[in-house]
Amino acid sequence: MRVREIQVKSALTFSESKRRYTLSPYVGCTNACVYCYARDYARRYKGMEWESEIIVKKNIDEVLRSDIIRKKPGYVFMSTMCDPYQFLEERYKLTRKCLEVFLEFPLLEIELMVLTKSTLVLRDLDLFREMKRATVGLTVTTDDDEIRKIFEPSASSIEERIGVLRTFKENGVRTCAFISPILPMNPERLSRMLKPYVDCVFIDDMHYRWRVRERYERYGLSWALKDEYFERTRKKLLELLQK
Ligand code: SF4
Repeated sequence: MRVREIQVKSALTFSESKRRYTLSPYVGCTNACVYCYARDYARRYKGMEWESEIIVKKNIDEVLRSDIIRKKPGYVFMSTMCDPYQFLEERYKLTRKCLEVFLEFPLLEIELMVLTKSTLVLRDLDLFREMKRATVGLTVTTDDDEIRKIFEPSASSIEERIGVLRTFKENGVRTCAFISPILPMNPERLSRMLKPYVDCVFIDDMHYRWRVRERYERYGLSWALKDEYFERTRKKLLELLQK
């Protein structure tokens, strides 16, 4: 895998459609999820090979500080172009440095959502405990780790992710589960696993189904790519998790 270090001029990007700022310390992601569509948004990084290259924004924390002063963001989502806790974060600590920058501005009351599939987020528990308006989100797309291995081969196991949610919740940090996309699953079991440890849940089916069709067919899972499956599963999850 190639790692390309770059210097950036801006850190926060405003999304008109979602009315929020996004922050991505890296572009590219070693989690290698089969359904990932972030690669479609990486085209502006010329010559980038999504599957085998990670762009590291070396000065993102410094630029973030001046962006916060200038833009005064209300809500920041981290991240859309990577998992902010993919394994390179162990070496570069850019996500951690960004959290430290947010902590310099307590009076701005910035709402921060950090989304990951990695246990590395536990390293920053000390910082999250200090933040008044931060939520730690874990993507949990199925209850079955064999399914996880097919679609998210390099991410932490489902059991580990639930463990992360539990730890944050027990430490008074707001938590959220992103069941997105809805992979083949037992919704009753997944609801039982998540419910004690989450403050909010976000559910979405599968975009860009053409991208994953071959993988579903190879494993005999085509039944779980039908509208009827997504509708039934979403309904069941909502019913159980809202109780
Ligand atoms: S964690 Fe997110 S950005 Fe990374 S490969 Fe998976 S879907 Fe893509």
